[in-house]
Amino acid sequence: MSLPLAAVEAAHLIDRLDRLARHGEAGGLNPAQWEALRFVARANRFSRTPAALAEYLGSTRGTVSQTLIMLEKKGYVTRQASVRDRRSVVLGLTPFGQRTLGDDPILALASGLATAGTEDLALLVESLRSALHAMIARNGGRAFGACHTCRHFRHGDEGTDPLPHRCALLGESLSDADSRAICVEHQQAAA
Ligand code: SF4
Repeated sequence: MSLPLAAVEAAHLIDRLDRLARHGEAGGLNPAQWEALRFVARANRFSRTPAALAEYLGSTRGTVSQTLIMLEKKGYVTRQASVRDRRSVVLGLTPFGQRTLGDDPILALASGLATAGTEDLALLVESLRSALHAMIARNGGRAFGACHTCRHFRHGDEGTDPLPHRCALLGESLSDADSRAICVEHQQAAA
């Protein structure tokens, strides 16, 4: 397959940046533990489960379970029976886990990227998102997109209601924070 040289160069740069951002054990957490902690912080309440985390990381449930046991032992996350389904476990972030995210090594990468202008960054995000969706479509995985870009998201009137929006798929009310969270059930809305 013949590819534009710039696309190949961009892929190498992303690969290199990814390695640098994962380097070492910042904050006493290894790369797998950081990935799990970020997921718990970014996923909505329907998606904070060990199974969804395994799917998000493309990992096995056994591996993810070991990571979560360590994170719970160190006081970063909680695991509780789901109110919706008592057989399932819901993950949560402790205040210590929340504070630790301020030392996330990925923020150094974000800081480097922040030197680009707003428009350039928006284009970069759009290009990377398209590339991610294409790879996920090829591999048959889930997108885990942000809720407000989902075809089931119904925008409500933001007034005093803390849950102004609605998920038409799950029949649940959603807050503004929920609208920015990532979701295992996400289906991209038509452009
Ligand atoms: S609107 Fe889509 S992304 Fe949001 S909670 Fe519902 S299914 Fe998930």
